[in-house]
Amino acid sequence: MATNRTFTMIKPDAFAEGNSGAILKMIEEAGFKIVAMKATQLTGEMAGKFYAVHAERPFYADLCAYMSSGPIIAAILEKDNAVEDFRKLIGATNPADAAEGTIRKIFAKSIEANAVHGSDSDENATIEGNFYFSEIERVG
Ligand code: GDP
Repeated sequence: MATNRTFTMIKPDAFAEGNSGAILKMIEEAGFKIVAMKATQLTGEMAGKFYAVHAERPFYADLCAYMSSGPIIAAILEKDNAVEDFRKLIGATNPADAAEGTIRKIFAKSIEANAVHGSDSDENATIEGNFYFSEIERVG
């Protein structure tokens, strides 16, 4: 995957509330092109793999239960400076700290149920995109 790509998930809280369309509209209006996208649901085991980097954190079990609690949308997005620009668009992890107008400020319920995921580096964007999408799906 090129470094002008990032990976996102619309998390179970936002999907269940019917906010997927509004969030995708914000993403497209911010200049991101959707190059791969699917609706799916993680098992607890798959959520554990995706968030393995957080295995030692006290919220890991809760996070895996939450992320497997309902459907999500996974997508690969393309834009110049994708990783950094997308982190700006979604805002801080805790919606209480997120800037006005960011996706998490508008849609997140809590520090855990915070509406969207955004990769934190080019390397993780590649790993995370590969986790969800086969090579043919990632061609864009
Ligand atoms: P992100 O990069 O902004 O998504 O934040 P992190 O990588 O630090 O955390 C991954 C995800 O774990 C977050 O998006 C939240 O869903 C969840 N999370 C982070 N911190 C906490 C916390 O203190 N408590 C709980 N319950 N969940 C958290």
